[in-house]
Amino acid sequence: MLDGIRDAVKKFLTGNASYDVAVEEFIKELQKSLISSDVQVKLVLSLTNKIKERLKKETPPSNLERREWFIKVVYDELSALFGGDKEPEVNPKSNPWVIMLVGVQGTGKTTTAGKLAYFYKRRGYKVALVGADVYRPAALEQLRQIGKQINVPVYGEPDSSDAVGISERGVAKFLSERYELIIIDTAGRHGYGEESKLLDEMKEIYEKVKPNEVVLVIDASLGQKAFDLAKKFHEASNVGSIIITKMDGTAKGGGALSAVAATGARIKFIGLGEKIDELEVFNPRRFVARILGMGDLEAIIEKMKATEEYESIQNKMKDVISGKSKLTLRDMYKQIIAVRKMGPLSKILQLIPGTNMLGDIKEDQVKIGEEKMKKWISIMNSMTYEELDNPSIIDKQRMRRIAFGSGTEVEEVRELVEHFNMIQRTLKVLKRRKKDVEKLFGQL
Ligand code: GDP
Ligand code: MG
Repeated sequence: MLDGIRDAVKKFLTGNASYDVAVEEFIKELQKSLISSDVQVKLVLSLTNKIKERLKKETPPSNLERREWFIKVVYDELSALFGGDKEPEVNPKSNPWVIMLVGVQGTGKTTTAGKLAYFYKRRGYKVALVGADVYRPAALEQLRQIGKQINVPVYGEPDSSDAVGISERGVAKFLSERYELIIIDTAGRHGYGEESKLLDEMKEIYEKVKPNEVVLVIDASLGQKAFDLAKKFHEASNVGSIIITKMDGTAKGGGALSAVAATGARIKFIGLGEKIDELEVFNPRRFVARILGMGDLEAIIEKMKATEEYESIQNKMKDVISGKSKLTLRDMYKQIIAVRKMGPLSKILQLIPGTNMLGDIKEDQVKIGEEKMKKWISIMNSMTYEELDNPSIIDKQRMRRIAFGSGTEVEEVRELVEHFNMIQRTLKVLKRRKKDVEKLFGQL
């Protein structure tokens, strides 16, 4: 199961094995997990080959450890498997649009029908619900309550057991009333051993009503069973998209990958709770981050981002020094934030132009620096963009306002502005001495 991947990430990042051995081990574990989730072997191999290739061709960015970078590569490639950077297109492709929800009982179809109705209603569609679960007692009542809550009409026939007829009549009625989005909530498995009967019914509704889209609703905890299940539903009704429910629980959503593999359909939404608004458009990256272990990955991504920001700042500094661009307080602000995210402390001071001319930094100076950095960040948070871009307009009155807003002293605001001015003066000197510039900033 995909939980294995999560553990493998932990082991990879904290284990004692050498990098090459750890990579080998991790890739094996990844393959095993994916194959045991019923992902096609071909797909798994192509994924791991891509990862290996990137490892050979690319080098980790500065400030990111090799191991962290490796996990980032895995993350990228796994995300690509789920659709990459693109969020799925969720708006109906035509008007009207009929959706039929299928899936095992208890997965959350009825709840999801309500969530979808609410989601599209807020997007401006005229939405209606059809209750075609004729097996579970009170199924229609459940849907009606949801409909009432969000003010969406519900079609149902309390005494009928004709799910196909109900679907046909419900859809016809709402179409004639010019509803734009009609969602059919169907039954789940009704009694053990009657699965094929249920699938026959799905098939019949599908063939008679001809919905524009069949949505398979699966429970995040389903795991490996998801493959066969998705396949069966797919054969009965040509599944067009997938919704994973209960992603808020302890389950890791491994079955999602199996369902995708079995149907070729895309995941469109995930359910994150029982409430009507706890539905989220599926985001491949966020989903994979959940599978891999959010904490570890978030930290790495933060660092990556900081590294990118840091590189863009370096380039900016070079432009400033070569006279191509002007330094603003906003640059300094970005710089401090980016560098702080990356730690270590002594680096922060080194990177502020001007201070690295001071030579070696002593430990106690670093300490003062850290406190000062925090203060400066809150001071700059209280400045307007205009002030950040053009600090020369910061007069006494503005200083008072900024100090008040940031909970600091006017003196401290003045100190920051003066520091900035000092940097600008230094830069002017540096511009005249280009060779020194290269010496100082070349290794930035
Ligand atoms: P159905 O039989 O497929 O129609 O499933 P229901 O919609 O009746 O849901 C079964 C149970 O799962 C209910 O108690 C729902 O409140 C709960 N449920 C549905 N979706 C979610 C979800 O995304 N998260 C959580 N935690 N519970 C959910
Ligand atoms: Mg139901």
